[in-house]
Amino acid sequence: MTRTRQILVINGGSSSIKFALIRDDQPEAVLTGLAERLGTAEARLRWTGNGSTAEQAIAGADHARALATLLPLVEAAAAGGLTGIGHRVVHGGERFSGACRLTPETLAAIRATSPLAPLHNPANLLGIEAAMAVFPSLPHVAVFDTAFHQTLPARAYRYALPEFLYQEHGVRRYGFHGTSHRYVSQQAIARSGLAEAGSGWLCAHLGNGASTCAIADGRSVDTSMGLTPLEGLVMGTRSGDVDPNLHGHLARTLGWSLPEIDRLLNHESGLLGLSGGLSNDMRTLEQARADGHAGATLAVEVFCYRLAKSLAAMSCALPRLDGLIFTGGIGENSALVRERTVAQLHLLGLRLDAAANARCIRGEQGRIDNGSPSPQIWVIATNEERQIALDTLAVLAATP
Ligand code: ADP
Repeated sequence: MTRTRQILVINGGSSSIKFALIRDDQPEAVLTGLAERLGTAEARLRWTGNGSTAEQAIAGADHARALATLLPLVEAAAAGGLTGIGHRVVHGGERFSGACRLTPETLAAIRATSPLAPLHNPANLLGIEAAMAVFPSLPHVAVFDTAFHQTLPARAYRYALPEFLYQEHGVRRYGFHGTSHRYVSQQAIARSGLAEAGSGWLCAHLGNGASTCAIADGRSVDTSMGLTPLEGLVMGTRSGDVDPNLHGHLARTLGWSLPEIDRLLNHESGLLGLSGGLSNDMRTLEQARADGHAGATLAVEVFCYRLAKSLAAMSCALPRLDGLIFTGGIGENSALVRERTVAQLHLLGLRLDAAANARCIRGEQGRIDNGSPSPQIWVIATNEERQIALDTLAVLAATP
């Protein structure tokens, strides 16, 4: 009898740890939860398992104490034992084109990549170091958001900047959301009935952060995010692409500092900015649009137009177009965004089935095109935790 293997997936933030216990033989997590406000008197641990949710105050707890509190819960839920721990790491630079076993050398390499992701990698490392202290006898694996995009050709990843910025400072396009783009594209290829060899797919991951990806032969060949996750699409509070001279313009005309401009572009723009400050949440905007709110109407319009433009641009990287995938909170739930976006992609031959599109919300997945000759269009729920667990198991199988 084959033994079930179980992986604890950890996503460490600067003051939080998200976790999920994944069994290789079932799609849904056995246990999920969040330790938040770590390092403060309000620190709390919340978890859901077996259909019920519970919560515990862990006042003043840091990452290690939160994980130590979690340990008995995980051990009880993982009766039969844990196989290993998979850690989400945002940036793997050019060093990591796949998941890797965490060793002193790979930890040092992740630390060395921190200048490229100064907010994310140090926070991920906090979670990793705490978990290695609390679970010292288990193998730990890092899975990178950037790794899937390491197959981009130079023409897609190089900026038109002087070469030394790339050679000496790593200034290039890396892309993010790789774990999600990989998971849903593999699902779509498997369900499509079409061969992977020679295939071409477009993918739109639309959550609070949003990016598109072109996938040829199952490999990422272009993506909309770049050196940082700010490039590309309109997002919840991020502007996506703006004129690169905007920084200088705001500094000269308004006297703004770099931190002020960073805050504007990352936290006050996107759907929130376009809707006149109404909301960064697509549900609220759809409702307000239906009630005639001009800012919400504009925000949805710009979001979908920019998304369609990005997908059309991504199609340049593909040998042919087998299909388009929508995923992430907006991609999986907003029939309106899918309809508005696909309507602007008619030159790619994409055609929706209105009834199927309306049906695919709140966990309902499936095909939403109106049949050949349209390329396929899919709504597929992303499951980054499961992909991280599967990658962790693959690394452990290769390096027992
Ligand atoms: P994150 O990137 O933080 O993981 P999610 O993938 O959960 O985010 O996506 C969050 C986005 O999904 C929000 O803009 C939210 O409004 C949107 N969303 C969730 N449910 C719906 C829905 N039923 N209709 C429209 N948008 C939705």
